[in-house]
Amino acid sequence: MSEDHGKDYTLEGDSELRFEIEQKDAKVLVSLVNGFAELFGTELVKKKKYEFGLGAKVAIYTFQGCVLHVSGKMDVCYISKETPMVQYVNCHAALEQFRAEAEEKDRRGPVAMVVGPMDVGKSTLCRILLNYAVRVGRRPLYADLDVGQGAIAISGNVATILIERPASVEDGFPKTAPLVYHFGHKSPSGNSVLYNAVVSKMAEVTLQSMNNNKRTKSSGIIINTCGWVKGSGYAHLLHAAQAYGACAIFVLDQERLYNELLRDVPKGVNVVLLPKSGGVVERSKELRHESRDQRIKEYFYGNARTPFYPFSFEVKFQDLRLYKIGAPPLPDSCMPIGMKAEDNKTKVVAVTPTPALIHHVLALSFAESVEDDVIGTNIAGFCCVTEVDMERQAVMLLSPQPRPLPPNALLLWSELQFMDNHT
Ligand code: ADP
Repeated sequence: MSEDHGKDYTLEGDSELRFEIEQKDAKVLVSLVNGFAELFGTELVKKKKYEFGLGAKVAIYTFQGCVLHVSGKMDVCYISKETPMVQYVNCHAALEQFRAEAEEKDRRGPVAMVVGPMDVGKSTLCRILLNYAVRVGRRPLYADLDVGQGAIAISGNVATILIERPASVEDGFPKTAPLVYHFGHKSPSGNSVLYNAVVSKMAEVTLQSMNNNKRTKSSGIIINTCGWVKGSGYAHLLHAAQAYGACAIFVLDQERLYNELLRDVPKGVNVVLLPKSGGVVERSKELRHESRDQRIKEYFYGNARTPFYPFSFEVKFQDLRLYKIGAPPLPDSCMPIGMKAEDNKTKVVAVTPTPALIHHVLALSFAESVEDDVIGTNIAGFCCVTEVDMERQAVMLLSPQPRPLPPNALLLWSELQFMDNHT
């Protein structure tokens, strides 16, 4: 652990300054004194002070060399000359060739998937590729299929956003106007049939929507995926690649996965093995849980720079239209004629409120009734059950919206829980 109240770090070309902050209330300020530098693809503005807090794991990279001024308490801080950034830039350059060609011929641009085990820097590589794309004037889509972390919405959901400007150094990409489909579990294994159905729907809708905007059409999609890459996890990756018609798959850090994909994807798909950055730190199960929790907390309460003030209100059981996607499995012999046991996995079933509902996150669907295509209907937002009062037959909900729920609001149960102990 080191405390420094201001120190200049001189970086040579093709190197990066890495630091981690793990102490509560710690604050690190970084500014670019000289040269050019970027954080995961976003250029730093000279002399501007960037602030980082608890949980930050940061790498500031420079192609040409730079001087950075850093102050504050950090747990680790060092300069590394071993970075895979040049390979990542080459991936961007290859995607650019596809985009230029697509633009010329008014075709759909490249759909690239980033795959690999947990904690290899998949989300970071997506961020870098998206930032480079917008910096050269593209407007790509970012699809996040990683229901474990939920970089765009919160975990338990699959989401897509249009990237129109580079990510903010401190806060990442703005999460405005996302297309969010509810899944309800932290891992695709929670309901494999539903996961594939949600991914297929997302792929179908986004590919279709690309035709409406010429620039986005040729810019393509960058897809982030789950870190579950074995067995059924692998089957999910293949399914996503097929649903999106991926033309490139970037495999981070796993030769086995790379070889499996080479064997299984159609010939025209470019499968590229890339090293992970030595800076990516493995997270324990607890840390992963904490960062999931942190995302939900930020959804309701914002962060220190942009705090939000959520509302609490009561909803009577009789007004609560609560559903869950996926009914318990029945043997085929018990199913009505023409239905398979699999169909149950995507069935929308009513949930009766019980005390077990406490702390669960609920998704508010834009669907008006269960007769609608609930799986393929956008999510308007989330609320969290903070109290279940069986005597009064009511629940208390934490919600970013001030008004009580719209009269026909359809809520979808998720296995995610959030303890609202915000003070
Ligand atoms: P994955 O998506 O594979 O789980 P992430 O991209 O989320 O992995 O990376 C895990 C963590 O490592 C993130 O907190 C990220 O900020 C950090 N990280 C990524 N690249 C670097 C790097 N070069 N140096 C230091 N930390 C990094």
